[in-house]
Amino acid sequence: MAPGEFDIIARWFSRGTNRGDVALGVGDDAALLAPRAGMRIAVAVDTLVGGVHFDVATPAAAVGHKCLAVNLSDLAAMGAEPAAALLALTLPAADAHWIEAFAGGLFALADRYSVALIGGDTTRGPLCISVTVLGYVAPGRELRRAGARPGEAIYVTGTPGEAALGLALAQGRIDLSPVLGALAIERLHQPQPRVATGMALRGVASAAIDISDGLCADLGHLLAASGVGAEIDADALPLSPALRAVTPRTRALEFALAGGDDYELLFTAPPEAVDAAKAALDAAGVPITRIGTVRAQPGLVVSGADDSGARLGAGGFRHF
Ligand code: ADP
Ligand code: MG
Repeated sequence: MAPGEFDIIARWFSRGTNRGDVALGVGDDAALLAPRAGMRIAVAVDTLVGGVHFDVATPAAAVGHKCLAVNLSDLAAMGAEPAAALLALTLPAADAHWIEAFAGGLFALADRYSVALIGGDTTRGPLCISVTVLGYVAPGRELRRAGARPGEAIYVTGTPGEAALGLALAQGRIDLSPVLGALAIERLHQPQPRVATGMALRGVASAAIDISDGLCADLGHLLAASGVGAEIDADALPLSPALRAVTPRTRALEFALAGGDDYELLFTAPPEAVDAAKAALDAAGVPITRIGTVRAQPGLVVSGADDSGARLGAGGFRHF
C-alpha cells in the first residue's frame, strides 16, 4: 500500500537535529528556533514546478539536491550562513522509491552545510517543491544587490553557462562527447551553491547576486539596484572544458552570458579587496574570475568576442 501523508513525513522527513538553535523541529504545529543573539536571519523561498523548472523524468535524487541548492544559493548571494529549511512538497502519487531518492539527495546536501529540516507540508497534486531557507548574517555584513561603485571590478565564480549547455544537450539542441556531456548534465542536475565563497565575501564584495536567470540578466539586476552600468569582456569569461568544445565560439559565449540555472555568484569589489581576501576565497575552493568593470554610465556593454560586441539594454542579453 502506498504510504500516507503522515507515513511520508515520519519515514523520510523526520530526522532529528543536533543544532543548538533548533529548539523544536518536525512534528508539532510549528518549529521553534532559538536564534543566535545579535544576528539577522536571512530568509528565502524558491519553488521548482515539475515540467516547468525541471523535467519530471529528472532523477529524484537530483530534484532533492536542486530544490535545496537553489535556495542555499540565495543565502550564499547574501553572504549568509545556512541554518534551517522548510519543505513544501506536492506529489502526484506517494511513490516510495521516488521519495526515498528525493530525500537522499536533499539530506546529502543539507548535511554538507549542517542545515536542519525543521518542518514543511506534504500534499497531493502536480509535482511541485517549495523550499524555504533560513540563515545567519551579522547586521551590516550582508551582501546586497545595491552597492556596486564605478571603477570596481566584476567577478564571477566557477564557469557559468554549463547548466544551460546541459539543458540544450538533454533537449537534443546540441552535440557533445559523452564525457563532456555528462559533466554538463551534472551541472544542470547538481548545481553547487557557493556558500563558503559567499561567506568569505562578507566585507569584501560591494554587491552580489547569484546567477539563476543568466549572467547578463542577473548582472542587470545588480546594476539596476546599484544605479550603475558595466562593461564585460567576453574574452575574459571562464569557459568550462565542455563549453570550450562548443562551436562556433560565439555560441559558447552565448551560453556563458545568457544561460541560466548555474547558481554561480556574481559580485563587484575593489580588486585590492579581493586580493587581500585571497586566502579565504581560495579556502572556499571555487575559482573566481574577473570579467569586467563597473561604469558610472547605465547599461551593459559586452566587448571582445571578436569585436562583435553590441550594447545590451535593460532587458538583459540580446545578442553581441
Ligand atoms: P499541520 O496540519 O499542523 O500543518 P502537518 O500534518 O502538515 O501539520 O505536518 C506535521 C508536521 O510535519 C509539522 O511539524 C510539519 O512541519 C512537518 N512536515 C510536514 N511535511 C513535511 C515535509 N515534507 N518535510 C518536513 N517536515 C514536514
Ligand atoms: Mg500542514
